[in-house]
Amino acid sequence: MNQDIYVIIEHLQGQVADISYITLAAARDLAQETGGKVLGVLLGQNAQELASTLAADSILYADHPALAEFTSDAYQKTVASLIGENEPRAVLFGNTSIGADVASVLSARLSLPLVSSCVKTSGGKLTSQICGGKIMAESELAETTTLITVIPGGYKPESGQSETAPEVILFDAPALDDLRVTLKGYIEPEAGDVDISKESILIAIGRGIQTEDNIELAEELAKFLGGTVCSSRPIVDQGWLPTSRLVGKSGQTVKPKLYLALGISGAPEHVEGMAESEVIVAVNMDPNAPIFDIATYGVEFDFFDLIDPLLEQVEEAKEG
Ligand SMILES: Cc1cc2nc3c(=O)[nH]c(=O)nc-3n(C[C@H](O)[C@H](O)[C@H](O)COP(=O)(O)OP(=O)(O)OC[C@H]3O[C@@H](n4cnc5c(N)ncnc54)[C@H](O)[C@@H]3O)c2cc1C
Repeated sequence: MNQDIYVIIEHLQGQVADISYITLAAARDLAQETGGKVLGVLLGQNAQELASTLAADSILYADHPALAEFTSDAYQKTVASLIGENEPRAVLFGNTSIGADVASVLSARLSLPLVSSCVKTSGGKLTSQICGGKIMAESELAETTTLITVIPGGYKPESGQSETAPEVILFDAPALDDLRVTLKGYIEPEAGDVDISKESILIAIGRGIQTEDNIELAEELAKFLGGTVCSSRPIVDQGWLPTSRLVGKSGQTVKPKLYLALGISGAPEHVEGMAESEVIVAVNMDPNAPIFDIATYGVEFDFFDLIDPLLEQVEEAKEG
C-alpha cells in the first residue's frame, strides 16, 4: 500500500461541486500525516479541463463515454479497479448522494473500512459527526485502504482550489460495457416559486418553529429584512413549505450574504446546503446544537422571544 490520498472529484453539467474542493482540503491535511501525495480522481468524457482549478499534486483522469454522466455502476467499477491497482492509503469522497452511494458499495464489495461524515482530518485523526451531528466520533486510518466521506464545515472550498493547473495523468477505465444503469436525461425542477439559490438574505426555519401558523412570524421577519423564507427538511416533509424552499442534501445549495437559521439543529444534511453562506446567524436554545460550529454569530435564545425585539430594532434602524 502506498501513502497517497485519492479524492473522487464530483462534477455535474460541467461544474466541479464545491464539496470536491472541501474534500481536497481535507485530503491535504491528511497527507501531511501520511507523507503521501494528494491525487484527484476525475471521471468523465471530454472533462479534462475541469482539472485546472483542483488543488492536487496530480489528477488521474479517465475519459470514457460511459463516464460522461455519473452512474453509480460505472463509478464503482472504475474506482474499484483503481484501488485494486494502486492501493492508496485513503480514498475520500464528498458525503453527498453520489459519494455516499459509491463509497458504501465499495466498502461492502472490497471489504474496506468506511468512515462517514468526516468533518476534520487533522493530526491523523478523523473526526466525524454522527447521529445528525449530535455526536462527534474520532477514528484513525486503518491498515488497509480507508474510505472516507467528507461533510462541509471543517474546510473552506477555497483551500481546495488552485490557480495553477495540476499535472493530469490519463488512465484507462476498466470494461464498462455491461452497466445496469444509464442516465437518460436530467429532469429540471418546475419554475414558479422563488429560486432560493439566488436570494441574498434567507430566513431559514427548522423544527423549532413548532406549528405551521408560526411560519407567519418568519414571513414577517423576511419582509422586514428584504429576504425570503426557506427551511430544513421537517418543515417541507410536513407540507408547510414547498420543496423549492428546502435547503440541504435533498434540496438546494444556497450561498446568501445572510443566512438566519431559526430553530435549526445543523444536521450534516442541512449544513451541506448552506455552509458557504457569507454570514450565518444561528438562533437556538440548545448550546450544543451543531449549527453553532459553523455559525458566524450564534445566539443561545428562544427565537419566539427574539422576533419581536428584532422586528423593532430593524424598524428603528430603517427609520434612522
Ligand atoms: C438522506 C437524507 C437526506 C436529508 N436531506 C436533508 C436536507 O436536504 N435538508 C435538511 O434540512 N435535512 C435533511 N435531512 C434531515 C436531517 O438529517 C435532519 O433531520 C434535519 O435537518 C433536522 O431539521 P431541524 O434542524 O429543523 O430539526 P431538529 O434536528 O429537530 O432541530 C430543531 C432545533 O430547534 C431548536 N429549537 C427548538 N425550539 C426552539 C426555539 N423556540 N428557539 C430556538 N431554537 C429552538 C432545538 O434546540 C433543535 O436544535 C436528510 C436526512 C437524510 C437521512
